[in-house]
Amino acid sequence: MKILLVEDEPKVSSFIKKGLEEQTYLVDLAYDGLMGKKLALSNEYDIVILDVILPSISGIELCKEIRKVNTSVPILLLTALGTTEDKVIGLDAGADDYLTKPFKFMELLARIRALTRRKNNQSTPTILTIADLEMDTGSKIVKRNGKVINLTAREFFLLEFFLQNKGRVLSRAVIAENIWEISFDTGTNIVDVYINYLRNKIDKGFSPKLIHTIIGMGYVLKINDE
Ligand code: CA
Repeated sequence: MKILLVEDEPKVSSFIKKGLEEQTYLVDLAYDGLMGKKLALSNEYDIVILDVILPSISGIELCKEIRKVNTSVPILLLTALGTTEDKVIGLDAGADDYLTKPFKFMELLARIRALTRRKNNQSTPTILTIADLEMDTGSKIVKRNGKVINLTAREFFLLEFFLQNKGRVLSRAVIAENIWEISFDTGTNIVDVYINYLRNKIDKGFSPKLIHTIIGMGYVLKINDE
């Protein structure tokens, strides 16, 4: 397993690099955003770990840059900022998970395992369908009524999760935990925001509607309106 670590604080970066190497991970280390960008765009990594506050290019900007060319590599953000808003900014930039400093090294290892396992799980391609909507999890192509629908990586995971749970009411908490692998404080509307993005792409202009709101409970993907 090859890991890119972008972290400008020498004490923190050498501690993490040493610990990961003891676990037999291969680690490339960059001390600033620019060097991190060069490495990220010219090598294949199993996971990218980004400190948020970096010289030259911030971790958030770097995350966006990487996502423009690579939608599949897992990205984990490290930061001292731990509010829900900061998490949402990071996740919106395309990060998969978020770890607040200071953290226990065991916690970092657990996140790395979870993120790389999820990536490997996706290696068996399947066709998932409901009504005239179909998703090919191998080619990542989604079509409705034969028309290709372009989804962002996170919208894709969200729709995939719905398709795997057709007819089942999914609460916001369950969706947040499965799609962002993070527990959101109540009052965060990230799930609703993404459901809206998805509805605009897969339901708007099509019939029947597939994503239904169950007031007070959550959302369900199903064909009938009842
Ligand atoms: Ca830093």
